[in-house]
Amino acid sequence: MNTLPNILELAQAHSLEFDPKTFNKKEARTKCPFCMEDSNRNNKYYLSLNEHKGVFKCWVCKESGGVLRFMALLEGKSEQEVIESFRKKSGSAYKRHPAERLTRHQLSLLGYPKIDWIGNRKYDYELYKAYREKIYLEWKHYVQRQKVFAYKQLFVGLISGSLKEAIEKIEELERELHESFKDELLEILFQDSKEEQYVELEEVAVEMAGITHPYNTLLIKH
Ligand SMILES: [Zn+2]
Repeated sequence: MNTLPNILELAQAHSLEFDPKTFNKKEARTKCPFCMEDSNRNNKYYLSLNEHKGVFKCWVCKESGGVLRFMALLEGKSEQEVIESFRKKSGSAYKRHPAERLTRHQLSLLGYPKIDWIGNRKYDYELYKAYREKIYLEWKHYVQRQKVFAYKQLFVGLISGSLKEAIEKIEELERELHESFKDELLEILFQDSKEEQYVELEEVAVEMAGITHPYNTLLIKH
């Protein structure tokens, strides 16, 4: 949430001369930088600033408005420019959808070039939202396939005595994908009883590696 500047702080930042009696009060007075009718008058401060409402008004020249107008006048910009710069700031604070946080490399793994999310959002909001979901779902599926592959590698590593190397490969994969699943997979790898899908994966993996599944070996021994 982007908050507007505090009008008193803004006045201080621009070195406006405060009436000391009102300094830091909710309703403060300063010399008016717009008409300067009070500049040579002792104890006269024509510009009134309301901190709570974020508004200003000069009792002599009648210049008045909200904090953004105040800022525009003080900085010699148009009010539109000030509003635009605020919109940009709040745009960067915009909480991005996980699909929008995918890096260029992650997108390239899915076969997409860089995606112009802001352009998409401006073009058609509903389409942009649907596209966002689609891309993120694709990414999740992609990571899932990589996890399956990683699990097979770990299992083959475990039973062929090269677990350390297998773990290193998984770590490399994690770095490439900017995802982490090694600990989760290792935990499953050393579980006494596993979900059937993992047992199936192990069977496929050892078959591909040309190794006998240890469960079969155990059965033969008994
Ligand atoms: Zn004035």
